[in-house]
Formats: sequence, structure tokens, C-alpha cells
Amino acid sequence: MALKGAGHSSDSELIQEAFLGAHHDMVLRASWVFLPMVMVNFASIAMVVIDKAPWWVVFPIPLAAVAVCGYQIWHAHKTTTLKLTPADYRATLERKGNRAVLIAVALSAWGIAVAAYAPQLMYFIAAVSGFTAIGSVAYVAYLQGPMRLILGTVGIAMLVVVLVNNDYATFVVACCYASTALLLDVYVSTNSATFSSVVIQHLESQSKYQDSKRAQAEISRIANTDHLTGVMNRRGFLAEVEKLIEARQQRQTPFAIGVIDLDGFKPVNDCYGHAAGDQVLTEIARRLTDFARERGTVARLGGDEFAVLFPYLEELDDLTAIGQSAIASLTAPITVSNGVAHVSASCGLAIFPEAGTTSNTLLEHADEALYAAKRHQRSSTAVYDKRNQQTVLRRSLIEQRLRRAIDSDELYLEYQPIVDSRTGQLLSYEALARWHDAEAGMVSPAEFIPIAETCGLIGSLSSRLLRQALQTAATWPDDVMLSFNASPANISDNTLVVSVLAALHATKFPPKRLTLELTETAFAESGRVREMLESLRQIGVRIAMDDFGVGYSSFANLDRLPVDVLKLDRSFIADVANDERRRHIVAAIVEMAQRLGLSCVAEGIEDKAQLDFVAQTGCKAAQGYLIGRPARSHLLTHIINSVAV
Ligand code: C2E
Ligand code: CA
Ligand code: CA
Repeated sequence: MALKGAGHSSDSELIQEAFLGAHHDMVLRASWVFLPMVMVNFASIAMVVIDKAPWWVVFPIPLAAVAVCGYQIWHAHKTTTLKLTPADYRATLERKGNRAVLIAVALSAWGIAVAAYAPQLMYFIAAVSGFTAIGSVAYVAYLQGPMRLILGTVGIAMLVVVLVNNDYATFVVACCYASTALLLDVYVSTNSATFSSVVIQHLESQSKYQDSKRAQAEISRIANTDHLTGVMNRRGFLAEVEKLIEARQQRQTPFAIGVIDLDGFKPVNDCYGHAAGDQVLTEIARRLTDFARERGTVARLGGDEFAVLFPYLEELDDLTAIGQSAIASLTAPITVSNGVAHVSASCGLAIFPEAGTTSNTLLEHADEALYAAKRHQRSSTAVYDKRNQQTVLRRSLIEQRLRRAIDSDELYLEYQPIVDSRTGQLLSYEALARWHDAEAGMVSPAEFIPIAETCGLIGSLSSRLLRQALQTAATWPDDVMLSFNASPANISDNTLVVSVLAALHATKFPPKRLTLELTETAFAESGRVREMLESLRQIGVRIAMDDFGVGYSSFANLDRLPVDVLKLDRSFIADVANDERRRHIVAAIVEMAQRLGLSCVAEGIEDKAQLDFVAQTGCKAAQGYLIGRPARSHLLTHIINSVAV
């Protein structure tokens, strides 16, 4: 039997399936009423003819009908709980349609048979059969074919009975039946079209909804992904953290976020080009993803900064160790198209809820921990700690204010004299940066210089101060030199030579009157740095190694470094009064420096005994509060003194 609803003329398979699905559901619901009705109707006819017809006419057909209906009800109950495929719908509908027709045929034949034994009740049998047939239309619902078969079969049976018996009451019932059947046919054919279009509309709007949902998901995936590396971006990461925070709101089960910043990425970009830089970032993202596989999710926050979300802390015994192993997973050399890149990384971690209850504060605090890690040691990990927050807050205040202060030239210099340790004659002035901020107060260079170094401000800070210093020093007598402190960061960003040359040129200050002071970490850098310092020396600039003796100063290298002056760290001088071994060490350093042709400056001379000792060792120059405190240029009386000497 063809199973096509009347008016259902869609060419789309999908719509056909949905139609069948909806239809099937309707039929299932109808069975709960229809099947019991059939059973009752058969039983009621059987009851009125039970004493008129022989048992083999009365019982078998109704019993068979009851069995079939009982089975149908049981089966319908079973199938409603199953998930059916469209093919199943088709098959069940076909079966149900066939069964309904079968029941109608059986009922009609039986009706005629029992009517022969009780002609006076014929109208009653006809009426019950008619009701059953009409009721079954609800059962086959909009399947017009089976519906017409059922109505037709019962109708023909009634016609036969009326013609044979010529009974008026049955004739009236048959007429009522015929008109109702006709009405039903019209009704069903109209409504099955409406039914189809409702199903189609529903299906179309559902598929549009699915499409727009799919498009939305795709848009949000793109918006949350880093195009270069394919991992999440900052936006996606923050959303992910926010989601987790919401999930943990109730029980506050901790989780952690880690921010990982690459060290040595900038030189890769500078030396090998941006394509190589991109390769490195992609490889780092891949390694981090590998590392985080079971532990969490990776994101690239921007530039060379990555992040990892660790949702389950119970499984991570030691967070610092996890940070360290994340770093370790990144440090193997990376082959790029035109060489091999070496990068390392530092990691800052923040734990929810201790370190914050919003994604932004957590990230901010992980960033602060990262800075702390970087300051502490290269390639290390730090976990955010509330107790450090005071320092951290101050640090970020200083960073903000410093940016503005540099731009508006709020930084100025004081000059501290360096004199001949024997005669007291002024040799030079060391320029020392000073900054008074309206909010942060007087900030020591020991505090703001490292901050300027880590947040990339040191370049502009140094070049502005150098120019200022050279302008001032240009007004001094020709034999007074200028010492200027350069930071190791000035060396590694390549711009030192250029900015020194530019400042010398702009102020017409003779290069040989300038000494650049650098701490020894600056000398630990590569051959490139040495070349740079060498080229400065060639034009007459002198290089001093500052704070000599506090780091890893190695005499072995000293003769090979481009250095002219050693500045003995003031911790040596502070100890000489009551530490004989220190005195020996200082004397030995001075002697060795002389042999290497380097001149010596002793810093931190605070009393006469120290000055005498220094002079006695042969260290030519001395600097310290005893001789003169750093002062603004217009207060430099030593110039007058020295000129007077
Ligand atoms: P530094 O180069 O070792 O500078 C000497 C520091 O010792 C200065 O501190 C100076 O004020 C202090 N000092 C001088 N004589 C004595 C003394 O007799 N006793 C004691 N206790 N201290 C004395 P300041 O000005 O606070 O500078 C601290 C550090 O900041 C400097 O150490 C230097 O490394 C850095 N710095 C200062 N200005 C600049 C700058 O313009 N650029 C760069 N890159 N670093 C700078
Ligand atoms: Ca210095
Ligand atoms: Ca020093």
C-alpha cells in the first residue's frame, strides 16, 4: 500500500521523513483510544446476538479482533519508548493501515453473518459497524488510501444488507453513515494538506535554526581561536576561565591558570625574521598542547605570551613543579627554515579563588607572578601570593606612572663626583637618575630602572637621560669627564650605539670624555655585544664595569672584555675597616687591574679611613658620600673647587 498522505507532495526526502515521523506519533496516540473502542464494539455486537446465533459465528471473529487489538496496544506501548528511524515509521504505518483495513473487512463480513441470525437487530449492528469504521479514520489519520478502503468496505457491506433485507431502520443508519463518511473524506483531504504544510514549516524553521546555530558556533570558534597557532586566543581563554568560575562558584573548588612568557623570542624575530618567529610560536603552542594534554587547555594570549588553564588541581601535586615542567617542555632547540632557535620561558601561576574570582583578576595576578618569576631568575616559576600584593601593586603603579614621566621629561639627573683618591682633584661626575612622582613619591633608580627594563621603557629612558647628561656635561671644564649608567637591556636591544652616537652628535660632546658604566651581566652577552662595545671604544668612549665583585666576576675573562675601568662594588669598601681578608682582596683586585691596564674606581667611600686605604692600594679614583653626595647640576660646587685647586 502506498503510504503518502493526501496533499503531501514534497519532493524532499527529508520532509517526507518528518511527515511520516509526525504522522506516526499521531497514530500511536490514537491507538490508545481506537483499539479499545474496536474491542468494545465487537463485544457489544456479540452480546446482543449471543442467544440467537451459533457459538462458532458469535465468538471466533470478536476474539480474534480482541487478540489483534490487544497485541497492537501492547506493541504501541513498546514502540513509543524506542527511537524510530524514518524507515521504521514507514513500516509501522503501513502495518497499521493494513490492520485497520483487515479489521474493517472482518467486521463487515461478520456483521453480515450475524445479521442473518438477528434481522430485527440489523440496524444496531450496522450502526456499531459504522461507528467503528468512522472511528478507525482517526486511527489511520491522514492516510487517505486506507481510510477510503475502510469506509468503502463497511459502506458496501451496509448497502448489501439494506438491499437484501429492505429494512427501513438499517437504511436510515446507512444514509447517516454515507453522509458522515463523505464529510470525513472531504475533511481529511483538506486537513492532511494543512497537516503536511505545518510539518514542512516546522521542519524548515528547525533546519534554519540548526543552520544559524551552526553558523554561530563557527563564528564563535573563529573569534576564540588564535589564527597562527590554532590554540585558543585571549578572548577564548577568558571565556573558558569565566565558565569554569561559574561552575565552581558554589563549592569554590580551586583551579589554576598559568601564564607563560618566552625569553629570547625577540632576538629570534630580529635575527631570523618574522616567518621564523611564527614557526617558533607555532611549535611552542604545539609543545604546550602536548604538555597540557591531560592537565588542561592552552591559549596564546598575544605576542610571545601563552596561558594554560589547569581545571583539576587535586591531580597536580606541586604547582611550581608543573610550571617548571611546562617550561622544560619548551626549551629544546627549534629548527626554523633558516637556522635553529633557542628560547626559554618563565611562568606565573594564579589559583582560584585565592588569587581572584574573575577571569581578569586571575590573569592579572598570574601576570604579576610571572614578573616576579622573571625578576627572580630566568626560566623560573612563581605562584601568585596575596602577601606579595603590596609590592606588586606598587610595581604596577610605578610602571604606569613611569611611562607618563618619561614622556613628559619628569626624570632628571643628579651628579656624584669621582675624585683622585690622593689629591682630591675632580676627575668626573657620575650621572644618576632621579624621579619624584606626585603619587609614588621619591622613587629610587634601584626600583624604577629594573621596572623600566622589564616593561620595555629603558630604551627611551636612557636616551633621554643621556642627552640631558651630555648637555649638562658640555658646560663643564674640558678635563671633567661624565660617567653614565647604561642598562644591560640597552645593550641587548641593539640601539645603544646608535643612541649614544646620536646624543654625542646632537650635543657636540667629545666621546673621549664619556664613560659608559655597565654591570657585568651586560658583558655576559654574546659576541655581538662585544662588537658593539668595541665600536664605541673606537670612537673614544670608555667602558666601565660597574659593581665589580658582586656577581660572577671572572678575572679569567677580564683581559678579553672591552673594558677600560673597574668600579669596585661598595660592599668591598664597607667591609675593609674590620675585615683583613677583604683588604687583601681589594688590594689584589687593584693590582691586577693595573697590570691589565685598567683604571680603578672605589665606590661608597663614606669615611676617611676608607679613602686612605683605597689611596694606599693604588686605586686612582674614589667616589662616595665622604667626597660628595649626588646633587643637581647647578649645585655642583666641586667644579669650582677643582678649578680653584
Ligand atoms: P650604581 O651605578 O652603583 O650607583 C651608585 C649608587 O650608590 C647610587 O645610588 C649612589 O647614590 C649610591 N652611593 C654613592 N655613594 C655612596 C656612599 O658613599 N654610600 C652609599 N651607601 N651609597 C652611595 P642610586 O642613585 O640610588 O642608584 C642606584 C643604582 O641605580 C645605580 O647603582 C645604578 O645601577 C642605577 N642607576 C642610577 N641611575 C641610572 C641611570 O641613569 N641608568 C641606569 N641604567 N641605571 C641607573
Ligand atoms: Ca654606576
Ligand atoms: Ca656601582
